[in-house]
Amino acid sequence: MADTKLYNILGVSKTASESEIKRSYHKLAKEFHPDKNPAAGDRFKEISYAYEVLSDPKKRDVYDKYGLKGLQEGGQGGGFPPDDIFGNFFSDFFGMAGSRGGRSRRARGEDTIHPLKVSLEDVYNGKTSKLQLSKNVICGHCKGIGGKAGAVVSCKDCHGQGIRISYQQIGPNMTRQFQTHCTTCQGQGETINEKDKCSKCEGKKVLNEMKILEVHIEKGMRENQKIYFRGEGDQQPDTEPGDVIIVLQLKSHDLFQRTGDDLIMKRDITLTQALCGFEFVIKHLDGRDLLVRHVAGEVIKPGDLKGIQHEGMPQYKNPFEKGNLYIKFDILFPENNFASVEQMKHLETLLPPRPPFIMPTGEDVEEVYLMEYNENERRAREEAYASDDEDHMHAGPGVQCAHQ
Ligand SMILES: [Zn+2]
Ligand SMILES: [Zn+2]
Repeated sequence: MADTKLYNILGVSKTASESEIKRSYHKLAKEFHPDKNPAAGDRFKEISYAYEVLSDPKKRDVYDKYGLKGLQEGGQGGGFPPDDIFGNFFSDFFGMAGSRGGRSRRARGEDTIHPLKVSLEDVYNGKTSKLQLSKNVICGHCKGIGGKAGAVVSCKDCHGQGIRISYQQIGPNMTRQFQTHCTTCQGQGETINEKDKCSKCEGKKVLNEMKILEVHIEKGMRENQKIYFRGEGDQQPDTEPGDVIIVLQLKSHDLFQRTGDDLIMKRDITLTQALCGFEFVIKHLDGRDLLVRHVAGEVIKPGDLKGIQHEGMPQYKNPFEKGNLYIKFDILFPENNFASVEQMKHLETLLPPRPPFIMPTGEDVEEVYLMEYNENERRAREEAYASDDEDHMHAGPGVQCAHQ
């Protein structure tokens, strides 16, 4: 992509040195500063932005490789501001860039936004998805006129404005002015005789077509990342079509959870494995089997996290660099009475000694037993307690308690 817009704005070549860029910026910034040249406020914004990018080697590199689009998308990885901060400025910027250079400024159609669900495998391996969508295209039969030549006439009711202005008296010397859509022409500002309407589009000027877009899902792309298809939005006469913007939505994965470039998974191991070592296999997103081996001796505790370097997600635009894969362990303890009393005694000789225990003496010692914990029962008691409290606060009669 040979985008040189930012270089053109500063009037330098693509190979300009840092000092050339700086000199040119200072000269232009002086000339177009809003204080000196209030009419050129937008121009100053463009110049500042161009300099901001080209004076930063990292940003300049991204721009040289991927153009303005790259800078926008870099938000996720390159330390640039995210899309939503930049969104308005960019659309302003594109609008301005389009209006200069002799091209007549046309209204721009709306962007069409499509969510696209992708799996974690898709963004790990990269994939091309075909997406079918319907869009309006200018009717080829009438070339977007809507009927035969001369058939289209300016709407009489709104004088071709598409809107009607009405006034409403809201005070002694005050009227309020408001606009309404012209109902005669549906806001189009023009009407076509029924019999003169284009037979293909019935005067609508556009036809609906199915279009297949090839969406390249690159390795490492993120949730909500946008993929732009410039000018692929709905066509309308005298309007520059907007973009089709594909917004990625990541499906959740059965095994892995993604956080940034890292992957996290949970793994249950038995107490025996936790104490005596283990090996198991992880089926990775590209189909590889990762053999995880852990030697006896280093005890794994409940909630322990261990990492495997470079087995996370590939970085966007830099897919040979990968994040890490982390495994969070939980320990499955054996069932009750898994061994005989004799075996337990033997087991105890292998385990670290118990902490010292001193038996209390006297009359105040009472032996108690542990019961099973029941979450529902406990919660019911808590709710009963809370509603008792409310009763006291309202202190009114007739507030009955469900538990009585
Ligand atoms: Zn037509
Ligand atoms: Zn009208």
